Amino acid sequence: MKTYEVAVVPGDGIGKEVVPASLKVLDTIADIHGGLKFQYKEFPWSCEYYLEHGQMMPDDGLGILKNFDSIFLGAIGNPKLVPDHVSLWGLLIKIRREFEQSINIRPAKFFKGLRSPLVNPNDFDLIVVRENSEGEYSEVGGRIHKGEDEIAIQNAIFTKTGTKRAMKYAFDLAKQRRNHVTSATKSNGIVHSMPFWDEVFKETEQEYPDVQTASYHIDALAAFFVTRPQIFDIIVASNLFGDILTDIGGAIMGSIGIAPAANININGRYPSMFEPVHGSAPDIAGKGIANPIGQIWTAKMMLDHFGESELGQKLLDTVEEVTNDGIKTSDIGGNATTIEVADEICSRLKKTA
Ligand code: ATP
Ligand code: MG
Repeated sequence: MKTYEVAVVPGDGIGKEVVPASLKVLDTIADIHGGLKFQYKEFPWSCEYYLEHGQMMPDDGLGILKNFDSIFLGAIGNPKLVPDHVSLWGLLIKIRREFEQSINIRPAKFFKGLRSPLVNPNDFDLIVVRENSEGEYSEVGGRIHKGEDEIAIQNAIFTKTGTKRAMKYAFDLAKQRRNHVTSATKSNGIVHSMPFWDEVFKETEQEYPDVQTASYHIDALAAFFVTRPQIFDIIVASNLFGDILTDIGGAIMGSIGIAPAANININGRYPSMFEPVHGSAPDIAGKGIANPIGQIWTAKMMLDHFGESELGQKLLDTVEEVTNDGIKTSDIGGNATTIEVADEICSRLKKTA
């Protein structure tokens, strides 16, 4: 029996609804397989935990998580209780940074049965590989002067190691798909970091002669997401550009509630973390209507990470069948609840076993 130990952090808001729904689906997958088991340990780290303990997770939180095979996270944030920068930096960003989860993978693909704003969304099937540890999201900078003379300075940090790491990951991933990588750049406007980004892309490209490439400025690339999505397979992007592109990806799929993500530690020293793109959605939390697909697809990425891609594909195909048959939450035009969607996926998985 292959056993995977998974640290589960439902977190805040709808995280507490979509995570249990997804664990039900994962357990069904394990049952079907027969030789597979997930051992969960749940941690209540959240904004409510912060109110009680004055921190988002205990002092030895990272030490506890370190020993798991992976971390399965819902969403963090409840700005009514704790300011976002405190909750995010106290848990999510802390884990990403300390566990060297330097790559963020975000697939986006159109499912039958969804409502996309695109006229022809059928060709929309891509993965954004987002650099996850540096770039524009840096703490370097500050503010000087006061009043009308005030100046804010924000530095972006692009290291050769971090940039090359993201690019190589993208090229390796392309080899498992349609052999194409697009670089998101802006070297016509950002004159230091982006020309460097282009150079590293050229260098990496030469190491992968069989992979086709393209490079577009981020503004044009964002437009092509809408007008020519079929030209993309893998897109490699900096932290900020990747963040923006994947929200467009979510919108094209029909709802941010569908979009999955994985924070990958590629040196194998620490666990990777699986967390959907959407946040805690306080506006719909507690109603049982959150779309569980983003979290379930995130579970599929965890299966891929464990080397169980066949099961992962089966899961995703089942999700698509369920949406296509109209068992959908309200954000994508249906009237099913979170649990009804998850239960439907489970019962169809069992039928095909
Ligand atoms: P964060 O800052 O953590 O990203 P946020 O509040 O900015 O959080 P989300 O929590 O992602 O953003 O919510 C954005 C909008 O999308 C909200 O209106 C929310 O209701 C909706 N939404 C997000 N996730 C889901 C979901 N799983 N199902 C249905 N609607 C969702
Ligand atoms: Mg937010």
